[in-house]
Order: sequence, then structure tokens, then C-alpha cells
Amino acid sequence: MTSSAAELYARDRVVAGVEKLRFFPLAVESGHGCWLTEPGGRRLLDLSATWTAAGLGHGHPAVVDAAHRAISRPAGAGGLSAVHPDSVGLAEDLLALTPGDPDRRVYLGHAGTDANDVALRCARFATGKRRVIAFEHSYHGGLGVAMGVSGVHIDAGSVASTPDTVFLPYPNPYRAADPQREVAAVLQAVERECSQDDVACLIVEPILSDGGLVVPPPGFLAELTQLCRRLDVLTICDEVKVGLGRPGTLHAFERDGATPDLVTFGKALGAGLPISAAVGPAAVLDQPVASALLTTAGNPVCTAVARAVLDVLVKEGLAQRAAEAGRRLRSGLAEATAGLECVGDIRGPGLVIGVELVQDRQSKTPAPDLAAQVVYRLWELGAVCYYVGGNVLEVTPPLVIADDEVDVAVELLTRAIDDAQSGRVDAEAVKEFAGW
Ligand code: PMP
Repeated sequence: MTSSAAELYARDRVVAGVEKLRFFPLAVESGHGCWLTEPGGRRLLDLSATWTAAGLGHGHPAVVDAAHRAISRPAGAGGLSAVHPDSVGLAEDLLALTPGDPDRRVYLGHAGTDANDVALRCARFATGKRRVIAFEHSYHGGLGVAMGVSGVHIDAGSVASTPDTVFLPYPNPYRAADPQREVAAVLQAVERECSQDDVACLIVEPILSDGGLVVPPPGFLAELTQLCRRLDVLTICDEVKVGLGRPGTLHAFERDGATPDLVTFGKALGAGLPISAAVGPAAVLDQPVASALLTTAGNPVCTAVARAVLDVLVKEGLAQRAAEAGRRLRSGLAEATAGLECVGDIRGPGLVIGVELVQDRQSKTPAPDLAAQVVYRLWELGAVCYYVGGNVLEVTPPLVIADDEVDVAVELLTRAIDDAQSGRVDAEAVKEFAGW
């Protein structure tokens, strides 16, 4: 860490702790492509893409161009009481790219949190029912209703669980003795919960991300959405973290042939600017009118950027690129870490990669302290990566990552894991960072 980076990081104490989730003293001055630069000039390979928000990498020319054009001649400052070409255009683009019935609407918001919050509230209003089925260790938002259905927040005690939400286990092929039996048990539980006819909707991540990057068994999502349709329960598929090209398909739910009723987007949609969306039936998202109001939602700058992001994703075939780069990263890492007992599992489609750290491959006992040390060591070595679910490295670089950058990622990840497990990381320095 350069001294100017340390200085900047120290000044950050004026920013409220409630919005901090820190794993090492990262201070950044600029970014380009897959690289971030600290004050003082040290470069770091970004293997998080700011929790996937920088899907196109940093400073993509199409994004810079769109933002510059929109801010130079802004068509007002929000979509609340006026229409402009990019708000309507973005809604049209999202409808065209998201499979579903013709009669759908698009809510434009600021963050994954409000997209999910609004989807949940609208589902309750449209059905006249209150209960929500969600999954343990899920993450759908950091405020409001979306926070209340997030298992991760319940686990942390930052919000209390209420009888309005039931949390079911998310099938975990790495840990289940029989994954298909786990799927069957979840489906049975859904059926049981719905028997009282008071369930408004089920909300699910196509890949459990903050809960530990768990990839469910093939078919799980399709069976779940089919069952909910039969039971007349709306499904909300939360694509905020892992959608938009990252899994090797445009949408993560596509991999499984699932057809959710509502789909929410965020993070990568805005390339770092605050924008999100919920796409779903008109009968759900049109009512009650004027009940989800954010003054600058649908604003000209964020919508112009989001349209540019979608255009680049499609025209540059980034889903395909994510599939290829992901294959290279996973196989490179599997080969390089074959002799490291603490690497229990390397999983995930495309550039949604989880590296589960354990005490040993036989016991599969989670190694959370090791994960904290590995991400800290990575930062020392020159890469940014966080962990989820306590002991799983979340490797989600920008989709534009080049092959030689993938190879650097493999090298740095392997070295950091090796260094941490050999005790070459200052455990006391790591303890200053609470992480999750
Ligand atoms: N859904 C998922 C799956 C997420 O991972 C997150 C963020 N971790 C959110 C929703 C909330 O998004 P935001 O932080 O942009 O509100």
C-alpha cells in the first residue's frame, strides 16, 4: 500500500460505519478495464468488479460516452413526472431481452435493494397475500422489505425475522449427501407452505451469491418456478448479482430453462451508476399507482448508461466471453491448486466463480479465518477479491477480462491461498477488518 493510499484510507473514518463492509484497506483513485489504481500508482487486478457492478470493467468507452452525452444535455433529472427517450428506451430494451408474456412492465430504480423491495411489495398488493418464501443465507437488499427477506441479514442479526417470511434451505451440491433429495425436500416444503393460501411470492437467487456462491443442482430453478406456477404463487428471480452475461448466458435463470414471473436487475446494469430494474406482469407492477417513488429514478444519465451496457453486452457477445474466460480461470485454478488441501471446491458457471476454502477436502470443515487472510493477502499481492458465506472466495472479474489477465488471476489467487495456509499472512492485521 502506498503512503498516499494509507492516508486516504485513514480519512475514511468520517464516512458512516453502517455502510461499510471492509476486508482490507482498499483505497482507489482510478480504474481502467480490469485494473484499479491506488493513490500513489499501485495497480490492482479487480477480481470482484465491485461485487459485479463493473461488469464491463472500469471506464468502458461506451459507458463514458453515454454518460457524457446524457449529462451534457440532460433531459431533466428523473423519470418521476416526465418521460424521456432513454427511460422508455431502457424499459423497451429490458422487455426485449427478458423472456416473458407480452403484457409486462418495467420498474426503474436505483439499486438491487429497491428493485426487489418494489417487486415484493407489488406481489403482496397484487395477490392480497402477505407471506414470502425466501431462502436461508440469501441476499436481496440492504434496506426495507428486501432486507427482511434476506437470510444473510437475519443470520447477522441486523434485522429480525418475522412470521411474514419463511426461509427454506438452498440446495447445496457440495455439502449435500444427495442433492436431488435436497431439491425434492425444498419443493415439498414450498408445497406445504403454500397450502394455507397466504403466500404472495417466492424470491430466489439463481445462484446463491452472498450466501456462499452456491450453484444449485441443474433443474432446481425450473422445477421451483413450475411448481410455484401450479400453486399460483408469483416467483421473483433476483438476477442482481449474477445476471447480465456473467454466467455465460444473458440471464442466469436461462441456464435452467426456468420462467420466473418477475426478474430483478441491478449492479452491472449501471456499470457503477445507480440503476436497477424489475421486469414483471403489468397486473403486478402497475399497482398501486405512485407507491414506489424515488425522485431521480429513471434519470437520463443512468438510463443512457444502462442502455449502453445492454448494447455492449449483446453486440460484443460478452456472455460468450464470460463462458470462455470462466472455463480458463476455473481449469487454471483447479490445476494450480490441485495440491492445496484447503481448496475444497471450485465452482460456478462463466465468471461467477466460487472457491470454497476448507480445513481439508475430507472433512470439508469451513475455513473462514483462512478466507479472510487470503483476500487480505491478495490485496497485498495486487488483486481485489472478497469472500462470501464466510469461507468462499467470490471471483467475479469484469466480463472483458483478457486471457493474460485470467492467467495473472490464477497465479495471484494460488499464491495468496498458499501464503495464507502456510502462515505467511499477518493475522493481526487481518483481524482489524470485520468483513461480513
Ligand atoms: N440481490 C442480490 C442477489 C445481491 O447480491 C445484492 C447485493 N449484494 C442485492 C440484491 C442488493 O443490491 P444493492 O446493494 O445494489 O441494493
